[in-house]
Amino acid sequence: MNIAFIAHDKKKNDIVQFVTAYEKVLSEHNLFTTGTTGQRIMEATSLVVHRFQSGPLGGDQQIGARIAENEMDCVIFFKDPLTAQPHEPDITALIRLCDVYSIPLATNMATAEILLRGLERGDFQWREIVKGKSEDQS
Ligand code: PGA
Repeated sequence: MNIAFIAHDKKKNDIVQFVTAYEKVLSEHNLFTTGTTGQRIMEATSLVVHRFQSGPLGGDQQIGARIAENEMDCVIFFKDPLTAQPHEPDITALIRLCDVYSIPLATNMATAEILLRGLERGDFQWREIVKGKSEDQS
């Protein structure tokens, strides 16, 4: 599966802890991140991630574009609800695209845990069917 990770600055320690806890299961998937989040994850784990631009410089939009192309299966987005972000429109757009394409999205650690347990259990297999169908149509 293709999984995107994004964390706002005050949530970066949390996402590093989270990814470390799930490193084994995540090592079996393709990981994508915004710039600084990915840097922090790679410094702390042996995971290899594909890093897009930093969020405020367009990284959220790049992940959104992958969703629109049906190339992202899950988004883990540790949002900071207490700090205004300069790229709020991009964040809103990314969340909107997850809803448009029914992409599983966690915006906090509690939901992210549930998604990752579902991933381990094979609950995301339906994504392969959806992707297969969209390839048939193209
Ligand atoms: P960053 O971007 O990983 O480059 O910090 C995340 C964000 O703030 O959207």
